[in-house]
Amino acid sequence: TPARRPLMAGNWKMNLNHREANLLIQKLAASLNEKQLTDVETVVLPPFTDLRTVQTLVDGDKLLIGYGAQDLSPHKSGAYTGEISGAMLAALGCGYVVVGHSERRAYHHEDDAVVNTKVKAALANELTPILCVGEGLEIREAEGQVAYTRDQLDGALAGLTAEQVLKVVVAYEPVWAIGTGKTATPENAQEVCGAIRARIAELHGQATADQVRVLYGGSVKAANIAAIMAQPDVDGALVGGASLDAEDFVQICRFPE
Ligand code: PEP
Repeated sequence: TPARRPLMAGNWKMNLNHREANLLIQKLAASLNEKQLTDVETVVLPPFTDLRTVQTLVDGDKLLIGYGAQDLSPHKSGAYTGEISGAMLAALGCGYVVVGHSERRAYHHEDDAVVNTKVKAALANELTPILCVGEGLEIREAEGQVAYTRDQLDGALAGLTAEQVLKVVVAYEPVWAIGTGKTATPENAQEVCGAIRARIAELHGQATADQVRVLYGGSVKAANIAAIMAQPDVDGALVGGASLDAEDFVQICRFPE
C-alpha cells in the first residue's frame, strides 16, 4: 500500500491580519507536538499579507508547520498590478499554493486554462499546487459530479508530465459543501476522490496515482474528520472556516487520536 502522509491544510481565506495570524500560529505550535506534526502534515494558507509573519515564526522557532498562499499569478513578473508571482511566494519560504479554488473560479472568472497556467507557474517555482476541483449543486443533483470533476482535472493538468503530476495535491471540494455546513458524506467524498485517483492512473499510470494526495474539502470539522479520513482515497482535508479556530483545527490535525 502506498504511503501517503495525511495533509491538513487550513485555508484562511480573507481572514486574520498579521497580528491575528501570529496569535493563531502560536496557538497551533503550543497545541501540536512533534509527533503529531510528523504524523499529520499541517499547513496554513493565510492571506498574502500574513506570509512574512508566518515565515518569521516558523523559521525562528523551527516549527513543523508548513505554509503557503491562496493564489498566485500565472505570470512570471512585470506589469501585472496587484498580482503576486510564484517566485515571490517561494522567496518567502512557501511550500504550497492553492490553485483554482471555487471562489476564484466563481468571482474571478478563472477557467480551466487559467488554472492550468497557474499549476504550471506553481511547479516552475517548486511550490506544491493544491488544485481545487468540484461540482456545484446543479451538477450534483443531476449526478454529474464524477464527469464534471474529471474534466476540471484534465484541464488543470493538461501538458504535465507524470513527474509533475506527482507533485500536485488535488482537493475535491464540492461547491455546495463549502461554507454551507453541508458536508459531503464520507461515501460522497470517496466516490469522487477515488475517481480522481483513477483518472490520474489512466493518464499517468497507477504508480503515479498511488502517490498523489487527494484531499476532501467542504465543511470539515472536528466532528466529521475521522469518518472522512477513513475513506481509502481521502488523504487529508482542505479546511476553511474551522481552520480559523485554533482548537478546531488542532482537533482536525489530531484526527488519528
Ligand atoms: C474551502 O473553502 O476550501 C473550504 C473547505 O471551506 P469550509 O471548510 O469553510 O467549507
